Amino acid sequence: MAIPGKERQGPCFWCFKALKWIPVLFIVTIVVWSYYAYVVQLCLLTVEDVTRRVLYLIFYHVFFFMFCWSYFQTIFTDIGTVPNKFIIPDNVFEAYMNNVDNFEAQNSILENLAKRLPITNITVNGGVRFCEKCRVLKPDRAHHCSVCGVCVLKMDHHCPWINNCVSFTNYKFFVLFLAYALTYCAYIALTSLSYFVSFWKGDLPGRGRFHILFLFFVAIMFGISLLSLFCYHCYLVIENRTTLEAFRPPNFRNVGTDKYGFHIGKFNNFKEVFGENCSTWFLPVNTSLGNGLEYPVHSRLHASSYHSMDTTQNSSGDGISYRQWHVDEDQEGLLRPNYDDENDSI
Ligand SMILES: [Zn+2]
Ligand SMILES: [Zn+2]
Repeated sequence: MAIPGKERQGPCFWCFKALKWIPVLFIVTIVVWSYYAYVVQLCLLTVEDVTRRVLYLIFYHVFFFMFCWSYFQTIFTDIGTVPNKFIIPDNVFEAYMNNVDNFEAQNSILENLAKRLPITNITVNGGVRFCEKCRVLKPDRAHHCSVCGVCVLKMDHHCPWINNCVSFTNYKFFVLFLAYALTYCAYIALTSLSYFVSFWKGDLPGRGRFHILFLFFVAIMFGISLLSLFCYHCYLVIENRTTLEAFRPPNFRNVGTDKYGFHIGKFNNFKEVFGENCSTWFLPVNTSLGNGLEYPVHSRLHASSYHSMDTTQNSSGDGISYRQWHVDEDQEGLLRPNYDDENDSI
């Protein structure tokens, strides 16, 4: 039986894979040009006051570094793929396919597998969530990405500007990328504003003044688009929802759909993405809590789980209890890509 994912490497596979880098190349080109326009044209050739020039350059490079670091991390962090224990064995899959016209029989086949796994989400029809392409049972919050060609843990969306899925493994990096990109644009716009005004007054000499003019425009344009996206993702972090869940709330076993199912308190929601330690909240390093497979749910949803999970009361919370983060034999492999499917990721 063919290994899921391998069949997609046709003649156009590498061509398509290369084309997907064009939006990233576009962003990198803009950033490199903005560096030249700001550092050379604005700071070195236009700003006359030395103190102001030095201060502009120092803060600029801090924001520039944080922006590049978070962008790099968002692009090159491996997406969290589904571990082997969620794979549907060949004989079970064949039995499933032999009951195409019988939903009840098909679902009971998958339910037997799901009972051994930490799964609480079900389909809108009440069936077990599974992916026919990857032949896996889907962990909670996981979805199949048609661009990456694999099921992705806590999938938020596929972003062409990073040529990667925004998912459990890089969601913190993505939010920081938006934050630092916004800061970068705002800083450029604010510090170049007076020179932008001088341009229209005719006080800026030389051809470099057009770089400053466009630098201001580009910073404002990107800044405005980033602001709305950043605010939206701040809202999603606080609500503990993914973009996909904002459109279609998760359906919990024995409970039904609940858009607040993963909401465990605003600060706890924030810590689930950014971690416990405030010293690393603003650094694009991996500090997200959990293993990408199991998520604490609101206390009223605990009965929705298949198997009895350990729970502990949140000492600082408001009546919300957590499911214990599981540390089992599979955890070591969870955040690494499933190398059988490596060619399907970026
Ligand atoms: Zn899949
Ligand atoms: Zn994707």
